[in-house]
Amino acid sequence: MTSSNSVAIIGAGIAGLSCATALQNAGAEVTLFEKSRGVSGRLSTRVTDYWQCDHGAQYFTARDSLFHDEVQRWIDHAVAQEWQPLLKVFDGYTFLKKDNDSNTTRYVGYPKNNAPAKFLAKELHVVSETTVIGIHKQAGKWLINGMEHGIYPGRFDDVILAIPAPQAGTLLKNTTSDLLHICNAVIMRPCFALMLQYDYTIPCQFDGLFIQAGLLSWVARDSAKPGRKVASSRSSDVWVLHATAEWSALHVNDDRERIAQIMLSEFNHLLMVDASIQASAHALIAPKSQSLHRWLYADAEKYLTDICHYDTSQRIGICGDWTNGGKVQGAWLSGLHLAKQLITEHK
Ligand SMILES: Cc1cc2nc3c(=O)[nH]c(=O)nc-3n(C[C@H](O)[C@H](O)[C@H](O)COP(=O)(O)OP(=O)(O)OC[C@H]3O[C@@H](n4cnc5c(N)ncnc54)[C@H](O)[C@@H]3O)c2cc1C
Repeated sequence: MTSSNSVAIIGAGIAGLSCATALQNAGAEVTLFEKSRGVSGRLSTRVTDYWQCDHGAQYFTARDSLFHDEVQRWIDHAVAQEWQPLLKVFDGYTFLKKDNDSNTTRYVGYPKNNAPAKFLAKELHVVSETTVIGIHKQAGKWLINGMEHGIYPGRFDDVILAIPAPQAGTLLKNTTSDLLHICNAVIMRPCFALMLQYDYTIPCQFDGLFIQAGLLSWVARDSAKPGRKVASSRSSDVWVLHATAEWSALHVNDDRERIAQIMLSEFNHLLMVDASIQASAHALIAPKSQSLHRWLYADAEKYLTDICHYDTSQRIGICGDWTNGGKVQGAWLSGLHLAKQLITEHK
């Protein structure tokens, strides 16, 4: 590819950033469009004056050698670290040790989960706070229409949709690309994430818990991750609770306060099963502050394993976790492989 190849990438999550980095390194002129203020998508962090909390992806693993090398690069640049949490499984009655876990290495962004994405974005041209609502072809070039600022002044040879399937489908509707059918075949599910800040340390026996019964699927002590900022009190704890996809879907439009109340009450019940908590009165102390986030497209009911797709005639590509088995690793690899495909096509 040469600098005469201009590419628009919609979505500055880990897939879009990985795709952009590889294309730019190959010589293309890349512009990323992101609807939020910051990059990182679902690998992100809520930050307040007093605490921070990773409310999307909790950690990532690197089983693929290319992604492993990339994670090592992030570690070398001090934007990721290994996380060794005390993990348990709750089966509805008791806390169990997590089986077959000794070979799993977990990583987190350092000092926040959005750090690797910010690191990648430093080298890239990101047009933020721009929600793309239309892509149109004019005289063989793509035009990008943003909700906030209208038609972007640049013209692009290729457009890459690095966004969840339903959002990609919406943008493909007014094109003639067959990629629309692929997007329409994938159902993405919501997830409520409740962040809780306590001014004491909850004396339970786990930092992360996989839950197999009830409306929560995962809870974690976010403040146990490396480098996390907590309130000035040294004993402060920050927790994140994730609701199951099924429960989140059932209550997706319910009153947010009610959702938070129900999730907190479930967490308190769960804590009361923990022997260390039973021995103390602490579990009854309410969090000092809390915040609820609704992920509308948290994961896919069934992920594709096609890695990515490129429509050569229309010059549109799609990538993201949902085209490549899910997770941060899947998203990063999907973006990389789509970039490689474009580089090969337009040598
Ligand atoms: C609650 C939760 C828990 C998770 N836990 C884990 C975990 O523990 N481990 C793991 O590996 N993975 C986990 N994941 C999954 C992981 O976060 C994703 O697989 C990965 O981050 C997806 O990256 P992506 O780039 O494909 O998509 P995204 O991160 O969704 O990026 C898409 C980007 O596009 C932007 N965008 C969307 N539409 C538009 C538009 N029209 N115009 C402009 N911008 C747009 C979005 O704002 C976003 O920044 C979790 C996800 C959630 C939500």
